[in-house]
Amino acid sequence: MSSLDPRAPLVLDTRELGRRPGSQREVTLTVPAPADLGIEVLRVPEGSPVALDLRLEAVMEGVLVTGSAQAVLQGECARCLEPISDEFEVRFQELFVYEEHQTPHDEDDEVSTLEKDLLDLEPLLRDAVVLALPFQPLCMDDCPGLCPECGARLADDPDHAHEAAIDPRWAGLAELTNEDD
Ligand SMILES: [Zn+2]
Ligand SMILES: [Zn+2]
Repeated sequence: MSSLDPRAPLVLDTRELGRRPGSQREVTLTVPAPADLGIEVLRVPEGSPVALDLRLEAVMEGVLVTGSAQAVLQGECARCLEPISDEFEVRFQELFVYEEHQTPHDEDDEVSTLEKDLLDLEPLLRDAVVLALPFQPLCMDDCPGLCPECGARLADDPDHAHEAAIDPRWAGLAELTNEDD
């Protein structure tokens, strides 16, 4: 097991909370977004502020973390590639089990655990963000995408049209007709 760095922005120290079940603590903090938070087409820019609003609650088995994260998103429209930027909020809840309450199968089940008094919010935040993001972000719900012929963004030019393309089989015939003129 790799040990947690208590100075890492997303590592919380629960010592002040104590271990008496029912004991609670509210924590608000703003941390810089870790790298690669999100999906390829839509992500929280690395280093941008992530505002966390957390409630830590000691329960019998560990510490229950309930909270929300607010951040900005940047990405591009899946249809027209227009840059998108948006604010969003995700909610999450996770039980971090005390080391001595872990059972051997916990590792397989990917149970979140405390390491002494420390807990790492980063995996929780990553999962919550990825689950909340649309797989195909759009600049607007009915984005018409790009023109298949010239790549123009159709939302900027709704009446966009091209001359009907000449069927290549007729192109030779058109030349013949021109020669007759
Ligand atoms: Zn679009
Ligand atoms: Zn076009």
